[in-house]
Order: sequence, then structure tokens, then C-alpha cells
Amino acid sequence: MKIILIGIQGAGKSTQGNLLRDKLNIPYLSSGHILRNIAKEKTKEGRYIKETINAGVLVPDDKMTSIIEAYLSRKEYEEGYVLDGYPRTVEQAKTFREKIDKVIYLKVSDKEALWRLSYRNGEVREDETLLVIRKRIDLFHEFTEPVLEFYRRRGILIEIDGEKSVEDVRKEILQSLTP
Ligand code: AMP
Repeated sequence: MKIILIGIQGAGKSTQGNLLRDKLNIPYLSSGHILRNIAKEKTKEGRYIKETINAGVLVPDDKMTSIIEAYLSRKEYEEGYVLDGYPRTVEQAKTFREKIDKVIYLKVSDKEALWRLSYRNGEVREDETLLVIRKRIDLFHEFTEPVLEFYRRRGILIEIDGEKSVEDVRKEILQSLTP
């Protein structure tokens, strides 16, 4: 099964993505993670990606799609995956050649997401200052919300209240995936 996870930063995509991976036995991958790996490379592309993500702006659509499609062409993704962070614009959704089964939207208010992110422990990311986070949330409303409509029209969008507990959200996702 090929699943896409959509939601603002702090909505719980990676938590639920990892839980889905374990339950469905398919790999979980995120566009942000892929890009941060490329950003570590001491190449022209690596420097470019690093500057782009640190500025909190989106990587151009054509570049993003070619990076993601190259990843997904690997054998390990043949049977399915949980993809987080892509497509993030309608243009990306339109050009994406993969046949997606379900798109899960984890709905969380901006206020709740900011609250969660300011208390998030662990790894501190260079691109996680409050200003950058706010900018990303604004980008989500502007560019990614229309992607929800794109998949809603195709009848594969599932909306989940992401403000519930991790366990409740997990259960609702699994229920919604069962025919
Ligand atoms: P994330 O970890 O999903 O928040 O992604 C970190 C950063 O990577 C974002 O702020 C963007 O700069 C970039 N990025 C991730 N996914 C995409 C995408 N689908 N399209 C454009 N840029 C992206």
C-alpha cells in the first residue's frame, strides 16, 4: 500500500509514520530527511539544498519531484511505503507519477503545533527556530492545503483529528485504512 501523510510540522507525522511502518511492514520515508542527507554532501547540490531548507523555503517543484521519484524507484519501495512531506504543492501532486492508495491528513491547529514544537525534546535542528517554523506553517496554508483538495476530489483523502492522543490517532488511521 502506498500512503502519503500530510500535516503541518508538529502534527505527529513522523510518530504516526513510524507506527504505520511497523504495523503494515512497509518503509517510512520523509522528504525532509532525504533532503537533510543531501544537505550534508559537500557538493554544489548539497550546499544549495542546505541553504534552501535553512531558509525555510520550499525546494523547487521539478527538483523535488526528481529527487523523490529517484528514491521511490528503489526496490525496497516497490511494494509500498509511507511517504511524509511530499507532495507539498499542487504542482508536485500533479506531476507525481506514483499510484497512491490513500492520503492521510493529520489535522492539528497552528496553536497546538507551535505549542508542541516549543516543548519538543531531543535533536535540535538548525532549521527549527520559531521564526522558521512559523514561516513553514504559513507555507503549508498557502501551498499544501490546496493539495488536500486535489486528493479529496480523487476520493482518497482521509482526515484525522491529530490533536487526540498518539494511540487514538493510530487507531483511527488503522480503522480508516481497513476496507
Ligand atoms: P520537513 O522536515 O518536512 O519539515 O522538511 C524540511 C525542509 O525541506 C522544508 O522546510 C523544505 O525546505 C524542504 N522540503 C521538504 N519537503 C519538500 C517538498 N515536498 N517540496 C519542497 N521542499 C520540501
